[in-house]
Amino acid sequence: LVSRKRKAEDTVIDIKGELIGNGIPSFVFGPCSVESYEQVAAVAAAVKAKGLKLLRGGAYKPRTSPYDFQGLGLEGLKILKQVADEYDLAVISEIVNPNDIEMACEYIDVIQIGARNMQNFELLKAAGAVNKPVLLKRGLAATIDEFIHAAEYIMSRGNGNIILCERGIRTYERATRNTLDISAVPILKQETHLPVMVDVTHSTGRRDLLLPAAKAALAIGADGVMAEVHPDPSVALSDSAQQMDFNQFDTFYNEINKLNWVS
Ligand code: PEP
Ligand code: MN
Repeated sequence: LVSRKRKAEDTVIDIKGELIGNGIPSFVFGPCSVESYEQVAAVAAAVKAKGLKLLRGGAYKPRTSPYDFQGLGLEGLKILKQVADEYDLAVISEIVNPNDIEMACEYIDVIQIGARNMQNFELLKAAGAVNKPVLLKRGLAATIDEFIHAAEYIMSRGNGNIILCERGIRTYERATRNTLDISAVPILKQETHLPVMVDVTHSTGRRDLLLPAAKAALAIGADGVMAEVHPDPSVALSDSAQQMDFNQFDTFYNEINKLNWVS
């Protein structure tokens, strides 16, 4: 169902009026984790000031260590909804439990399925059964074929509004947190009709590489870029090393907009 052979035209996804996959790059910014109303509202104001629509923030955090911050859960979703309503934004947040998918639809505009859950088939099926766009991330060690099959799980249950997100894969290279598989973008665009985004934060894990990685992503044909922004990354409860502060966010967005990406 996700194959280009089945449908030649690009799928364009409408998220509260923001079109993903229409040839104009879309941007998703926001903190790694929802930490408080004030923190999310501050980022929302910065996103809104740029005329952008999409805000991200994790409420259920799939952390490597059980002793790290696990997210605010439902309280985090409620904060996202409140901020989305107040700032007229659309919010994206990761859901990790199939039983939470329906409930989450009341609070968020896009369900994110994280890299660690790309082959959580019960979660994929649950996301396929609701009428809500899904941002599906590539697994840490998933081949492109496995990634496409994960999207197929969602679409086979009836939900065709899927955004594929390349977020880096695990290789022997340690200079970056993951290895951004940039060529996955045109391959996914050729093989499927779905929009493709690149998460420059989790792929590189390096603040100094966010801008070049985003340029590369758009140059190679990505429909959008995701990056993390936090009012004060030094005190962030997760991913403190790679989130941008508001100054860095301004520079990043100005630099990316100097180039004309409309395709
Ligand atoms: C995230 O976007 O918050 C996240 C945890 O990313 P990934 O699933 O790609 O590691
Ligand atoms: Mn993060």
